[in-house]
Amino acid sequence: MQLFDSHCHLDFDVFDEDRGQVIENARAAAVEKFMLLGVCASQWSKLVQVADSIDGGYYALGLHPYFIQQHHAEHIDELIAQLEQCGPDLRLRAIGEIGLDAECADMDLQLVLLREQLRLAKDARLPVILHHRKTLDKLLKLVRESGPECGVIHAFSGSYEQGRAWVDHGYYLGIGGTITYPRANKTRDAIKRLPLNAMVLETDSPDMPMCGYQGQRNEPARLVDALAALAELKQCEQAEVASITYTNTKRLFSL
Ligand SMILES: [Zn+2]
Repeated sequence: MQLFDSHCHLDFDVFDEDRGQVIENARAAAVEKFMLLGVCASQWSKLVQVADSIDGGYYALGLHPYFIQQHHAEHIDELIAQLEQCGPDLRLRAIGEIGLDAECADMDLQLVLLREQLRLAKDARLPVILHHRKTLDKLLKLVRESGPECGVIHAFSGSYEQGRAWVDHGYYLGIGGTITYPRANKTRDAIKRLPLNAMVLETDSPDMPMCGYQGQRNEPARLVDALAALAELKQCEQAEVASITYTNTKRLFSL
């Protein structure tokens, strides 16, 4: 069995002390590949360095709405320069983590940055990794207008109809800790009915702990909990779900 953590922040300082061990734990749990996300311009150099140091490590570059206070319009120029500089770096596989967050400040700047980054991704033929909070429908409209053909909705939560609309648009759904919580009825029910060939697994480490690990730092090794929850919802063998989601993730990132 092979697993791909399609969304983790292994470059964050909280892993500085024991990153090697965290990666070993992941490998012991069959997690072979890792997608690390860009969140702000000042973080990109460490991100690239950490992703490069991990066998099976890949990265995305982007400006996350959560760090909106740190972003400036000029960071888009820096992103363009980074993309040019990375050139044929096979580890750079996406633009992300980008999106809209209704609970973060400055929605006007969020929109400006998102539109620019969607356009860049489209020009560079890279998929986007999208963050949302109460913005799923608005995001779909923007992506339809100016986004690339492919991408993923990180930490999908929403209704069947919302999930269906993204899948019909050719996007993948990121499945992680949310479905491990029995109370997440709406999302669990939606995922039960949506197609497995549009799903990828993710942890969002160090955030979004799985059920039973609340208050603890999340790790890619816990991807197996998301796998188990998804297999149960789909009434499929875990090995089959692992194989399908692994293939999906490789397709998403053109690997
Ligand atoms: Zn994230």
